[in-house]
Amino acid sequence: MQVEKVDTLVIGGGQAGLAMSEHLSASGLSHLVLERHRIAERWRSERWDSLVANGPAWHDRFPGMTFPRTGPDGFPPKEEVADYFVAYAEKIAAPIRCGVAVTKVEPHAGRPGFRVETSAGVIEADNVVAATGPFQVPLIPSVVPADTGIQQMHSSAYRNPGQLPAGAVLVVGAGSSGVQIADELMRAGRRVYLSVGPHERPPRAYRGRDFCWWLGVLGLWDLETREPGMEHVTIAVSGAHGGYTIDFRRLAEMGMILVGRTEGCRDGVMSFAPDLAENLARGDASYLSLLDAADAFVAANGLDLPEEPEARRIGPDPDCVTHPIRQLNLADAGITAIIWATGFGVDYSWLKADIFDERGRPRHVRGVTALPGLYFLGLPWQSRRGSSFIWGVWHDAKFLADRIATRHKYMAYHEAAG
Ligand SMILES: Cc1cc2nc3c(=O)[nH]c(=O)nc-3n(C[C@H](O)[C@H](O)[C@H](O)COP(=O)(O)OP(=O)(O)OC[C@H]3O[C@@H](n4cnc5c(N)ncnc54)[C@H](O)[C@@H]3O)c2cc1C
Repeated sequence: MQVEKVDTLVIGGGQAGLAMSEHLSASGLSHLVLERHRIAERWRSERWDSLVANGPAWHDRFPGMTFPRTGPDGFPPKEEVADYFVAYAEKIAAPIRCGVAVTKVEPHAGRPGFRVETSAGVIEADNVVAATGPFQVPLIPSVVPADTGIQQMHSSAYRNPGQLPAGAVLVVGAGSSGVQIADELMRAGRRVYLSVGPHERPPRAYRGRDFCWWLGVLGLWDLETREPGMEHVTIAVSGAHGGYTIDFRRLAEMGMILVGRTEGCRDGVMSFAPDLAENLARGDASYLSLLDAADAFVAANGLDLPEEPEARRIGPDPDCVTHPIRQLNLADAGITAIIWATGFGVDYSWLKADIFDERGRPRHVRGVTALPGLYFLGLPWQSRRGSSFIWGVWHDAKFLADRIATRHKYMAYHEAAG
């Protein structure tokens, strides 16, 4: 069998794979990107129809190109985001092959480099960058048996309200996906129950600046590790309808029924933890602490930004918070569908290397593994909080390209020296 040889093989043609390609090219390093479907496939087929970016167009992009249709302060729809990456691949002339899946990667025995099996043949690569996404495998906790007659789906399979049977809906998880889907269903006239766990909810904007700007100037996108105890805390933001602050009390006022963290289901009865008020209070505290930090920054830097005292008003607790539902009979509540907005896991079963921890996550330092020539890109918190976001991955790719160039230099010397 013909074996193709490449210097660096990048697996995945999402934003991470493209950022990697740009920086490898800029360093004069030959490479190939393999994408099993289409460029930025997840933005096309693994997001709901109405999704827009959570960050404004000026912020959630690569430095070298603006969004063509959405203005800087707008939130690009998901198709525009996908189109953006297709155009970007053309702009940087990325050497990308679509429709080719990598099925196995293993290090050579006794020599550097990797043997890569793909749906289109075998490749040998000196370096491999796994850029297969931070959010790969939908996670649905095994709480509700499949035979209850209730339609269950993960948020990545949700498209629009018309996809669900008539009736009420339970959305589990109140991060950005869960809360946006719950809001869309409520606006479509559905009775919606939303199970709210620990979360942060920054203001969409404060004193005339988007929260993405505030997190930037306050250095919070650059945090290198999660604060202890915050590992399972999700962030609830939305760019929908021009962007608005997630305020759970306001959603309850509009008719949404909030419940605590989902604990279990027995004989068609869901049970929820008694933590709803506490989760909302913690979300409020994170919200108010960002306002405090923003005010302090304005004062310290003498910025001329309009004051916004009304942003500090926290509404009264709605009835569903003061009298929380702990048990809910799904049939009695008319619930016909459950949407699990409960996050994602990873699957690196195709990568035969001893670099994973007990939970299957890669061990690495800023994407560099202990196995020479093997790198990861696009992991959550790869180098900092911003790592899995469009703009953050671009900076991580730059770092990795530098590492690959350095390794290339040493190997080139070795070969030239004989
Ligand atoms: C609902 C949602 C909304 C988001 N909104 C924003 C936002 O507004 N702003 C922002 O900055 N970030 C956002 N993100 C986060 C992040 O930008 C996206 O998750 C983004 O898709 C990650 O890009 P990536 O290239 O790292 O991974 P992916 O987009 O997952 O790309 C990986 C690619 O690898 C391919 N692949 C996987 N395995 C193989 C294989 N074995 N062989 C070949 N190809 C393979 C896949 O087909 C895929 O195209 C959002 C995430 C989600 C889930």
